[in-house]
Amino acid sequence: MKMELFSPEALITEDEIAHRIEELGYSITKDFEGQELVVICVLKGAFIFCSDLIKKINLPIKLEFISLSSYGDSTQSSGSVRLDMDITANIEGKNVLIVEDIVDTGLTIKTLMDIMKVRKPKNVKLASLLYKPSKMKHSVKIDYLGFEIEDKFVIGYGLDYAGRYRELPYIGILNAGN
Ligand code: 5GP
Repeated sequence: MKMELFSPEALITEDEIAHRIEELGYSITKDFEGQELVVICVLKGAFIFCSDLIKKINLPIKLEFISLSSYGDSTQSSGSVRLDMDITANIEGKNVLIVEDIVDTGLTIKTLMDIMKVRKPKNVKLASLLYKPSKMKHSVKIDYLGFEIEDKFVIGYGLDYAGRYRELPYIGILNAGN
């Protein structure tokens, strides 16, 4: 059987992503100058963003991974978030940078921030590649933002649709016809 290749139109190109990540890496390096940083990559969606971002941060980094799933159902409009895989490091007294793919309603990241704050880090900052302001319900501060986007379902550069398209090197919009 022949696999169909899918190349959606780019919303944000590889070059635009690379350029913005360089700027974010520079800001993070400057803000934490002389200090160590624990970077927490939120799986799976942020894995490509996180790997490109840490290469542009000129600080001693310890990398951790965490995995969350969000559930929304008809009886609970706000949905709920489950912790599937936790970090292994003790973050007490540490500078923590959470790296997320996209902030939509803000529920996932708000839950994660709350989980982390209980563990008494020195501080917790958030880097997110994308942000959909029109959907925000839970107010969260994005300290390092890649791009603000309109309310369209995006894929690529780590983001999936039903487990697919993470490998696309750019951000595209999933159209009804795809
Ligand atoms: P929130 O909890 O902020 O509503 O949702 C955040 C999560 O929803 C993201 O980590 C991501 O997994 C998923 N998500 C939200 N919008 C999109 C989108 O446009 N594309 C993809 N692929 N995932 C999205």
